[in-house]
Amino acid sequence: MVGNDKNVGVKKEKGIRKLTDRISFWKAKSQADEEERHSPKPKPKLKKIKAKTKQPKNKKFQVIEPQRKANEAKKKEARIKVEAQRKANEAKIEAQRKANEAKKKEARIKVEAQKKANEAKIEAQKKANEAKIEAQRKANEAKIEAQKKAKEAKIEAQRKANEAKKKEARIKIEAQRKAKEAKKKEARIKVEAQRKANEAKIVAQRKANEAKIVAQRKAKKAKIVAQRKAKEAKKKEARIKVEAQKKAKEEAKKKEEEAKKKEEEAKRTYEDELEEQLSEEEITGFQLEKTDMDKMCNRVCEIIAGYENEGTLQSELWKKLKLSSRDGSRLALKLERMGMITREKILEKQRWTYKLIIKKIPISTKSIEGAPCLTCPVQSKCSIDGEISPKTCQWIEDWVLIELKK
Ligand code: SF4
Repeated sequence: MVGNDKNVGVKKEKGIRKLTDRISFWKAKSQADEEERHSPKPKPKLKKIKAKTKQPKNKKFQVIEPQRKANEAKKKEARIKVEAQRKANEAKIEAQRKANEAKKKEARIKVEAQKKANEAKIEAQKKANEAKIEAQRKANEAKIEAQKKAKEAKIEAQRKANEAKKKEARIKIEAQRKAKEAKKKEARIKVEAQRKANEAKIVAQRKANEAKIVAQRKAKKAKIVAQRKAKEAKKKEARIKVEAQKKAKEEAKKKEEEAKKKEEEAKRTYEDELEEQLSEEEITGFQLEKTDMDKMCNRVCEIIAGYENEGTLQSELWKKLKLSSRDGSRLALKLERMGMITREKILEKQRWTYKLIIKKIPISTKSIEGAPCLTCPVQSKCSIDGEISPKTCQWIEDWVLIELKK
């Protein structure tokens, strides 16, 4: 459409330019004619006139009167002739000029008419062009409108077709959905029927199971009752048996205890009775009259230590120390409580007595007699981890070596 409009515009412009050129041409021509018409007519040249009259040039004038007169008459006649000729020529020229002017006027009128006709033609052409352009424009507009309408109609048709398609698709989908729903419903009904059938089956199965369980339970119960009765009978039998065994055991235990008691009675010594009779304070606080008990304890321990792990019979020790059996026994109990010795009950010559074994050897004061530390001048500065220490002391080393040699 735009291309068509452009072509129309170009054509129109070309036409106008052509008309303008023609008008310019006619204007220039008419102006030239006008100028020619108004320009003065050149006078005939004297030379030419002379040539025509054949007048001599530079001739000595030898006038003879008659001759001269004749000549003058001739000349006059010639002049008149020439004048007449000139006038005739002038008249002819004037007529010619008038004829030319008339012709020019006619031509001018013709040109004017032509110009007007051309102008009218151009105007008509212009109007025709404009009408053509307008018609073209209207045709184009109509065409565009028609195309637009056709397009709209096409779009509308397309839209309607799409809508119809969509509607069709919707209907199809709806139909599919309904078909699916119907299928689902059918499946649901089927499942429901299956479920009911299963439930009925389960109920029947359950009832059968329950009946079976009841029967089994009854049978089990009967069996359990029978087993329980059998067990009870067995238990009763076992109880009787156990009772008998228990009684036998109790009797045996009783006998054993009695035997043990008798044995214990037999084992029982004077020290055991003494231990039962005395309190702990009386045992640990035992003192012999007019005796240094520390020294006595040390001496007893030294004697027992002499027997090392074998130990010695307390009766023999008391004899050595000239102690009574009662004092010796109490002293042995004291040393045991002090943790110095242990007592071991043994049967000696069909009689139960105690063997005494050393547990901890007491330190004798004699052993530290002569130790350099007692008289050491730097004793106050001496310590295990100090600068002056028993670990590095030469005095203590010498003393230990001497004591070992003894
Ligand atoms: S260890 Fe030696 S230095 Fe220390 S107090 Fe005894 S004797 Fe003196």
